[in-house]
Amino acid sequence: MKIEPADRVKDLPPYLFAAIDKMKRAARDRGVDIIDLGVGDPDLPTPPHIVEALRQAVANPEHHRYPSYMGMLSSRQAVCDFYARRFGVELSAEREALTLIGSKEGLAHFPLAMVNPGDLVLVPDPAYPVYATTTRFVGGEVFTYGLLPDQQFLPDLEGIPVDVADRAKIMIINYPNNPTGGVATLDDYARILRFAQQHDILVVSDLAYSEMFYDEPAPPSFLQLPGARERSMEFYSLSKTYNMTGWRVAYAVGNEQLVGALGKIKTNVDSGVFGAVQEAGVVALTGDQSCVDEMRNAYRRRRDLLMEGLRAMGLDVSPPRATFYVFARIPHGMDSMTFARRLLEEQGIVATPGVGFGERGEGYIRFALTVDEPRMAEAVERMKKITL
Ligand SMILES: *Cc1c(COP(=O)(O)O)cnc(C)c1O
Repeated sequence: MKIEPADRVKDLPPYLFAAIDKMKRAARDRGVDIIDLGVGDPDLPTPPHIVEALRQAVANPEHHRYPSYMGMLSSRQAVCDFYARRFGVELSAEREALTLIGSKEGLAHFPLAMVNPGDLVLVPDPAYPVYATTTRFVGGEVFTYGLLPDQQFLPDLEGIPVDVADRAKIMIINYPNNPTGGVATLDDYARILRFAQQHDILVVSDLAYSEMFYDEPAPPSFLQLPGARERSMEFYSLSKTYNMTGWRVAYAVGNEQLVGALGKIKTNVDSGVFGAVQEAGVVALTGDQSCVDEMRNAYRRRRDLLMEGLRAMGLDVSPPRATFYVFARIPHGMDSMTFARRLLEEQGIVATPGVGFGERGEGYIRFALTVDEPRMAEAVERMKKITL
């Protein structure tokens, strides 16, 4: 039968999140009142001034035709201005910035632009699953590197064998980190850049959570380092900062050749982001930023509430300095799927087993701060009833 899917589809690892969804649905059908701390999707709406900008832009007939492939210049300029203001990084909107249909799209197409069959890509473990999956789609080889729990989950560079490092073409990094909440300082980035320079590796930085932080100093951009632009590109998304996951708008910025190669792929597979969404994105980046402060305050309060519940269950965890995830070590050597099942079956709480983010995520569980304070308080009360 020629209806057989391609090997890259058949070779996809079993989707653990589908198993959790099934458990969730079954619990809901039994009438369980579920508190969902599983998904990394902001529960709060997009700020009204951004919604209003879309409402107005949608009526403009210019946006009813195909948008430009690389993104409107005003939209690319807005992200460059943000980089200048926030990170002191000067970028050319024409050559060093590209609008994406969300950073997941850019991350998924990037291997098509840069990875030949057999090329080696260094991917963190645990991690956002997209990096490894889409590298394998194009026949790239994945080497997963560990993260150091006692050091903000920074890359375990010493754990990467020298011959692997020498052969690697690309290293993917993500700070502030999903799922661990780890944060990199500029010194940490400098160490990663030195490693990349020594072994002639390109660095792809996923900066989706740069604005979701609770302590100063604010997380830096990898592009702040002198010399970074020679070998790196960064993905910056509006999804988490402005509660815009449904809108699909993000940017790739940095090295001109990397951005240009990704742009060439995109020219051949999609037709860019709806112009009205890009205009709303400009308003998000250039308008009043008090909504970002409010977002941080809301997550901070939820985070501090959740800590009490986790400690009551005997989980050893310190509050994350950034992201809306709490990544906690599970006691007594219990595996993460068993613990997730117990949370759901005993108390109706959904959390994500660490193993869903890679082998080295086993033994951990991830909670997302995506319910309001009363619900979080309720989750904490329920956690207090769990004896591990
Ligand atoms: C949420 C998230 C993104 C953002 O994805 P978009 O496609 O821009 O919505 C990127 N990277 C990581 C690690 C994320 O968790």
